[in-house]
Amino acid sequence: MAETRPVVYMDNNATTRVAPEVLAAMLPYFSELYGNPSSMHGFGGQVGRLLALAREQVANLIGATSDELIFTSCGTESDSTAILAALQAFPAKRHIVTTRVEHPAVKNLCEHLGQLTGHRHRVTQLPVDREGLLDLEQYEAALSDDTAVVSVMWANNETGVIFPVEKMARIAKNRGILFHTDAVQAAGKIPINLAESAIDFLSLSGHKMHAPKGVGVLYVRKGSPFVPLVVGGHQESGRRGGTENVSSIIGLGRACELAEERMAEENGRIRQLRDKLEDGLLNKIPNSMRNGHRAQRLPNTTSISFAYVEGEAILLHLDLFGICASSGSACTSGSLEPSHVLRAMGVPFTAAHGSVRLSLSVYNTESEVDFVIEKMPGIIAKLRDISPFWQSIPQESEV
Ligand SMILES: *Cc1c(COP(=O)(O)O)cnc(C)c1O
Repeated sequence: MAETRPVVYMDNNATTRVAPEVLAAMLPYFSELYGNPSSMHGFGGQVGRLLALAREQVANLIGATSDELIFTSCGTESDSTAILAALQAFPAKRHIVTTRVEHPAVKNLCEHLGQLTGHRHRVTQLPVDREGLLDLEQYEAALSDDTAVVSVMWANNETGVIFPVEKMARIAKNRGILFHTDAVQAAGKIPINLAESAIDFLSLSGHKMHAPKGVGVLYVRKGSPFVPLVVGGHQESGRRGGTENVSSIIGLGRACELAEERMAEENGRIRQLRDKLEDGLLNKIPNSMRNGHRAQRLPNTTSISFAYVEGEAILLHLDLFGICASSGSACTSGSLEPSHVLRAMGVPFTAAHGSVRLSLSVYNTESEVDFVIEKMPGIIAKLRDISPFWQSIPQESEV
């Protein structure tokens, strides 16, 4: 093991630990159960039957039917497949509606499509307000007869803010527009019932919900038009070629079952831990603020800005205590750019730079939360002591 120091893992929106139950379910597929599910013999056929069971487990979590699910290699592939399929379904339409706060898997694809030769596609990126929320009137006004597809995330990976995608899908459907949602952060964390919705396409990813990396799902509503992205063999009913990632799919099925069992009781506990963490940090540290609407949010996520310090510096100091978190800035081409999500929300530059995301899971404990509340004020005070920005502003005394 490379890591011997105890780790306080609060970066679950980046990736999660594979649940021990999930790993146990997967192991036989690396040893004795190595058959190809497409084979005609019974040895492969038994794997095919267990694959079908995993498909049902995923379907149950999101209120879909098995035949509406396509296993993919990741959330990013699911997003790309859905958006490109929708565009091919309506070749005469050129307009895409999305938001300014999407994950790069959607944001960069849409921007890429908008920049392709001849500007074939026109992209509208809806703005958000200071709390990270969309304006539904503005959304409706953005839709036109030229709109082929809307792609709006269910929950934001940086702030946890939840969008009213079911309502938005209904509005799109009434206009004959296809609706995709990136539910990678929502799946397993909040209830999803697609049977009751007008959503055409939904993406989820294994590694954000205690299954392994390298497996995703694309839901395609029965009757919605579809064109495969990966064309090859007849796997996934001809909708995604390539021999199935059997062990990971089995793991994802088990992870969905666990999420369904635990959601009701664990969400309350995780929300309490998150609120204790957030309130503790905001109360103890001056010039700090929450990013994102307090209530309309995933139970596990908090994004906090500490003005006049660098998020990266905070992360390095947290790391010395074994605390894993993320910052709201991305190191692009050598310079630290505040995240596009916080910029879209109008978070002031100095605050956006000093933002930290802490994201919890079922494996976090109250003593870990107490540990972070204990360590963070000293880290921020120390960094502000050496910050020229902080030195230059008049201030009340530090705690
Ligand atoms: C992680 C993430 C993705 C990408 O999923 P991968 O499986 O890593 O490709 C897409 N959207 C959101 C919101 C995410 O958090």
